[in-house]
Amino acid sequence: MSTATEPVKPAYARVLVKVSGEALMGGEAFGLHWPTIERIAQDLVEARGTGAEVAVVVGGGNILRGASVAGQGLDRATADHMGMLATVMNALALEKALEQAGSPARTLSAIPMPTICEPYARQTASRHLERGRIVLLAGGTGNPFFTTDTGAVLRAAELECDAVLKATNVDGVYTADPKTDPTARRYERLTHDEALAKDLKVMDAAAFALAREAKLPIVVFSIREPGAIAAAVRGQGRATTVAP
Ligand code: UDP
Repeated sequence: MSTATEPVKPAYARVLVKVSGEALMGGEAFGLHWPTIERIAQDLVEARGTGAEVAVVVGGGNILRGASVAGQGLDRATADHMGMLATVMNALALEKALEQAGSPARTLSAIPMPTICEPYARQTASRHLERGRIVLLAGGTGNPFFTTDTGAVLRAAELECDAVLKATNVDGVYTADPKTDPTARRYERLTHDEALAKDLKVMDAAAFALAREAKLPIVVFSIREPGAIAAAVRGQGRATTVAP
């Protein structure tokens, strides 16, 4: 039996944490808020400290979303390439903050740019994880018309992660939008099929379909609380778990 002084073992041996670009803005309207990035880096180091291997997919919405800027002469594929580059900028910022917080970290990009970071390869990512490094997976899937949620599920499936920990602004999946509906209730646990049948927006459709196919658990929790990532790794804290 564990006591209060014993560290709680991780519920998952290898996790993929999805951090949206917006989470890096703090209270700002755009870009990088360094104190927030430092806090998220601390959280990730704490999560790694549980003994779990930690991979991170970071979004780019704080800088650019392809769908928002496409049009008026800018085609969607080019806009999405720009969005993927935004995720690389975020990953580099987080890598620096992780190093400053005392953890070795490596950025691997789905779009090769070897003078800046390593190109993504499954074996390389696995080896870094086994050696205790926090691995930042940048560039999403490397293809336009996808999102970093899909990138997160794809990488989690191929790296045989035990769960995708989706850090958001809300502490789980609700029966309705808790911002507008005071009767909304948070689900503690759901199956993928239940989430689909109830049309709950856990992730975008492509990402969710892949998670369901790969039988990959998704833990949705709020990144606003310090220590939330480590709590999710331990299977604790307020969250909704979507699992088979
Ligand atoms: N993106 C893409 N393919 C991918 C992942 C991302 O084209 O596999 C582009 C897309 O334009 C997207 C942007 O990168 O809008 C930023 O990613 P996302 O919107 O998922 O970031 P988040 O909402 O998590 O901050």
